[in-house]
Amino acid sequence: MTEPAPNVDMDRIVSLSRRRGFIFPSSDIYGGLSSCWDYGPLGVEMKRNIKQAWWQAMVQDRDDIVGLDASILMHPQVWEASGHIAGFSDPLVECKSCHLRWRADDLATGKCPACGGELTEPQQFNLMFKTFMGPVEDSASTVYLRPETAQGIFVNFENVLGTTRKRLPFGIAQIGKAFRNEITTGNFIFRTREFEQMEMEYFVRPGTDQDWFDYWVEERRNWYVDLGIRPENLELYRHNEEELAHYARACYDINYLFPMGWAELEGIANRGDFDLIQHARHSRKSLTYFDEETRQNIVPYIIEPSAGVDRSLLAFLCDAYAEEPDEQGETRVLLHLHPTLAPVKVAVLPLSRKENLAVFSREIYDDLRRCFMAQYDDAQSIGRRYRRQDEIGTPFCVTADFESLEDNMVTIRERDTMKQIRVPIAGLMNTLQAKLAGEDLFVLPEGGKVWKE
Ligand code: ATP
Repeated sequence: MTEPAPNVDMDRIVSLSRRRGFIFPSSDIYGGLSSCWDYGPLGVEMKRNIKQAWWQAMVQDRDDIVGLDASILMHPQVWEASGHIAGFSDPLVECKSCHLRWRADDLATGKCPACGGELTEPQQFNLMFKTFMGPVEDSASTVYLRPETAQGIFVNFENVLGTTRKRLPFGIAQIGKAFRNEITTGNFIFRTREFEQMEMEYFVRPGTDQDWFDYWVEERRNWYVDLGIRPENLELYRHNEEELAHYARACYDINYLFPMGWAELEGIANRGDFDLIQHARHSRKSLTYFDEETRQNIVPYIIEPSAGVDRSLLAFLCDAYAEEPDEQGETRVLLHLHPTLAPVKVAVLPLSRKENLAVFSREIYDDLRRCFMAQYDDAQSIGRRYRRQDEIGTPFCVTADFESLEDNMVTIRERDTMKQIRVPIAGLMNTLQAKLAGEDLFVLPEGGKVWKE
């Protein structure tokens, strides 16, 4: 079987992101800051949509998972207990000729990839960002920016258990920023020093952990497929014994075929009882669960699906990107984004700027924006405006023309097929709602008709 090729090269994604306002370099007017990025007007919408879709699947739609928003700065002992102070490090090597630094385990040979020079012996480099709490910079007040959101969940296990009366199995979900002083960053937003994670810790009875682990690997893979990622661009990779983190009993990566090749999108780990035992030991609290079936205190095992918001956004953009020849022999660039993730759901485009049509179209826009993220665009030809919306992945455009003023009907154009229907304004909102939820374009509302097949 031949391996699939990446859908698009990274330059095109970076260029589209910048051109259309998805993602800009951080502190752009000062020349940018290495590996830090700002999400622009469209990027922020798409990011919110990804987080919302995750929250819906992980918290809102389920009885067994609750949410949490823990602080980024945590008690320094958290990182002693978790093993991050002792072990959260990567092997750093430096080239003796050009002095560039590399992660030793990323290198295929023992030579500097930039100049072929000789490298120093690897030194362990801790990836946590340090900062100081309070005005005196002494070691007593050293705190860390969290390198993962998970620890905020473990240390709140007792609080959540006591306030929600959840019974095993149950989970705690959290979305938030994490910081890692990565040695090598790059590939756009794939690996950055500041990023956002979506993590869920699922507490289960020991002995049932393998089944729940399998369940979550399947659930999480399906989440990406349901939101439009092509299954052939996803693979499951099982870590072997040597690759497993010190706390993990088993781990799968969900890899995506990014422009630079297969790379981790999300990790799912069976963390056993490592975290609760460590925090119980260091905090001297009993982090156990009273099992009414056996009348015993037990330490639950934990299954953890851990995803990156930024990496997901990159994967969704890459998978959605397409260039197609159009009827005029030009190239149509479009993003086949799932409607749930598209930053703008509908664009209202008056055929002309003539006042009566503008007032009429504005009213439609004002009505629609109450329910959907919508845009109003009356600049340049209608063809160009369709292209602009295609390029940012807007699933539907609504066009009003002079006939609309007479018959109170507008056309709806579908992004992927460019087909159109004409519907009465009275049914417009419901029709768009149904189409965004996946209904076929040619299922017509009362009084509607096919316009352009
Ligand atoms: P990698 O091996 O790529 O460094 P990891 O195995 O250290 O990743 P985890 O600690 O499992 O990553 O983090 C869970 C998820 O958080 C990753 O799958 C990824 O989506 C995201 N993530 C981790 N580090 C970064 C980073 N530096 N930039 C962006 N996202 C990240």
